[in-house]
Amino acid sequence: MKTVTRSTCCYCGVGCGVLIEAEHGRITGIAGDPDHPANFGRLCTKGRTLPLTVADHAGRALRPELRLTRDAVREPADWTVALDHVAARFADIIERDGPDAVAFYISGQLLTEDYYVFNKLAKGLIRTNNIDTNSRLCMSSAVSAYKKALGADGPPTCYEDLELAQTVLFAGSNMPYAHPVLFRRLEEAKARDPSIKWIVVDPRRTDLAALADLHLAITPGTDVALFNGMLHHMIWEGSIDPAYIAAHTSGFNELKSLVRGYTPSMAAEICGIAESDLLVAAQWFAASPAALSLYCMGLNQSSHGTDKNLALINLHLATGQIGKPGAGPFSLTGQPNAMGGREVGGMATMLAAHRDIANAEHRAQVEALWGVNGLSARPGLPAVDMFDALAEGKIKAVWIACTNPVHSMPDIERVRRALRTAEFVVVQEAFEQTDTVPYADVLLPAASWGEKSGTVTNSERRISRVRAAVEPPGEARADWWIVNEVARRLEARLSARQSEEAPNTHNDAGLFPFESPQAVFDEHRSLTIGRDLDIGALSYDVLERDGPQQWPFPAGRERGAARRYVDGTFATADGRARFHAPSYLPVAESVDARYPFRLLTGRLRDQWHGMSRTGRAGVLFNHAPQATLSMRREDAARRGLKEGELVTIASRRGRLVLPLETSDDLAPGTVFAAMHWSGQFLASGGINETTIGAVDPDSKQPELKHAAVRIEPA
Ligand code: SF4
Repeated sequence: MKTVTRSTCCYCGVGCGVLIEAEHGRITGIAGDPDHPANFGRLCTKGRTLPLTVADHAGRALRPELRLTRDAVREPADWTVALDHVAARFADIIERDGPDAVAFYISGQLLTEDYYVFNKLAKGLIRTNNIDTNSRLCMSSAVSAYKKALGADGPPTCYEDLELAQTVLFAGSNMPYAHPVLFRRLEEAKARDPSIKWIVVDPRRTDLAALADLHLAITPGTDVALFNGMLHHMIWEGSIDPAYIAAHTSGFNELKSLVRGYTPSMAAEICGIAESDLLVAAQWFAASPAALSLYCMGLNQSSHGTDKNLALINLHLATGQIGKPGAGPFSLTGQPNAMGGREVGGMATMLAAHRDIANAEHRAQVEALWGVNGLSARPGLPAVDMFDALAEGKIKAVWIACTNPVHSMPDIERVRRALRTAEFVVVQEAFEQTDTVPYADVLLPAASWGEKSGTVTNSERRISRVRAAVEPPGEARADWWIVNEVARRLEARLSARQSEEAPNTHNDAGLFPFESPQAVFDEHRSLTIGRDLDIGALSYDVLERDGPQQWPFPAGRERGAARRYVDGTFATADGRARFHAPSYLPVAESVDARYPFRLLTGRLRDQWHGMSRTGRAGVLFNHAPQATLSMRREDAARRGLKEGELVTIASRRGRLVLPLETSDDLAPGTVFAAMHWSGQFLASGGINETTIGAVDPDSKQPELKHAAVRIEPA
């Protein structure tokens, strides 16, 4: 019998609603959900082709496998043996070397319920904060800046603002590729009202830049200088909003002193753009009835990503372009559930419901809610540090779920070294051939999209249901179930020791009584009450009845809040937003005579991350059939390199070989490669063989967008 199941696309942070068609236990078709407020029935090429990626279960991990020694070959095992083994090895290592000898590296692709159980296992049971996720590579600079400037994580804006903005500043975002369904809404708004201005800040002339009213092709990494220069001009011209600044912010005078030095001519020179273009951008932004900025990895994946975000938020606060329809700083989430992961506190630097590990009151609140004592105050290790600690033998065991760090982390050889050095590696994965799976001592086969249930939160803070349309293939199981089963086993081992050190107060059902994702969601909801993301009024029943909802959605409200800070009261202690005064700092690795090219990385329209899923749909290779290195035509000619010729891209960390593609869309001295292809598809590995592990000092997000490389014939 044919069934239709309402669910959510598993790829990007737009969070499109889908209707999954299934028959005889197989997914046979997909349509956009006309009632979902993120997409109103639309899907992009990736969403439309989802059934092709699951049709025959090709490449799926179908049964647990384990090996007892690191040099052995993994053998199939039944679930009980595999779960017992994982729990026993983790318990042994924790008892021998302490809780911080183990770590979890999870994913913004996981559902909120999966994330919640992982986080509770690490922080509530094991009492380590060594749990981080690939969202560290994606959104952490945006999070840091939101918290520093506005007092809380999460965008103040909503998708409706796309249609209401009169000036749109895109910074480090190629939205037609990365968030295509949302971009359609902008296109339609501009078609209705051609006076809407689009300003695009991007070193490359992307498809989006080609459509812009003003393209600022800045030198990579100079965004802070640009935004400071724009603010200088706004102050000089008197186009800031002194009343808003006085009523709702603090710290403006210090910022004003700083940007006095960023004259437009000086800022434009740093950025490598015309001063007149900088002035136009400042005028359009400040004079607009509603200025919206849309930003993504170009700002975040930087060794100064937090500063870039802060400098952009400064523009909004100084002009009052926030908390009103069509205006505000809107960070576009990369992954489908980076937001949900943060809501449950599933990162090394946070606790449940946007609480902070370093805050004793927050730790006490979580202890009371979980019925535990002795939550760790030791900061957990964020992604790059976590793999370094594995390589150094400080962390002995790692559990990796739903992500492929041997492709997506910077400086991949560092990650391989870490996984070779580790004493015990668990990989929980839906696909059996990712670059990370060969390092697994235990492979736990996970259910995938269309096979499991829970919730995700999209870029506008909207929580949607994800529903199973079919059973998982083979012996694959839902992620939350796998973690819950290991956690119950570990609890039995660890609780005796813990009750001597810091007795727990939870009831006899233990920390992991969950029998369904709904039970997990209900507990997650209880931890949000009274917090900025309060979803006290939300439940699976409400989502079933009323469809996807935005947070905050506290008890007593009929629906969630579309916008935040509309009354000018921010989430800081005194209710005022904070200006920060970031100075421009260059990229982590400058070009020089040996490595004279700036390598930029980015996404393609029809591929997603490491292609473990999109690489299975042949039609998605029509847009870009192979990995290439793009180089400016004149640069190639000067070096005698020809279109299609194989070239070696080498950095101080590694190298790979790609065919050359010449382009007129790059500045002299810059080259570009897509981030998708990995060792699964290319013998010489992916572009992260060459990228650098330098991180932002505040957010710990690595500078995946820029490295110094040399290019030579292969
Ligand atoms: Fe899926 Fe994102 Fe495309 Fe929507 S825009 S269909 S969420 S990949």
